[in-house]
Amino acid sequence: MARNITGEKRLNDFVQIAGVGAALETADGNIYTGISIDTACSMGFCAEHSAIAEMLKHGEYKIKAIVAVNDNGQAIPPCGRCRELISQLSSSNLHTIIEVKDGIRVPLSELLPYDWKEPSGPVW
Ligand SMILES: [Zn+2]
Repeated sequence: MARNITGEKRLNDFVQIAGVGAALETADGNIYTGISIDTACSMGFCAEHSAIAEMLKHGEYKIKAIVAVNDNGQAIPPCGRCRELISQLSSSNLHTIIEVKDGIRVPLSELLPYDWKEPSGPVW
């Protein structure tokens, strides 16, 4: 599904969209997708961020699995900001399975060692 929405489009000299696409499956089994927005002055955001916004719009916040793909359809790992965003939505998201490379899937906890929210941090 992520591949189906990915394909970079240049809107103008400052904005490109959909260079990365993401799809996530929630704990409830729903699928949400998103595309990247790349802009001048760093005002864009990641495809994962976009898919998460779509999920939150539907009242869900627990992610079972997520993948992002580049313009060539290859799985790529989430940036640090997206890793942190996923982890802050629910402590159960530390178990979210992330495809970091085609065929290689790891839990978020492996991508966020020494999480600042653990072990005595707030329960969220
Ligand atoms: Zn990101």
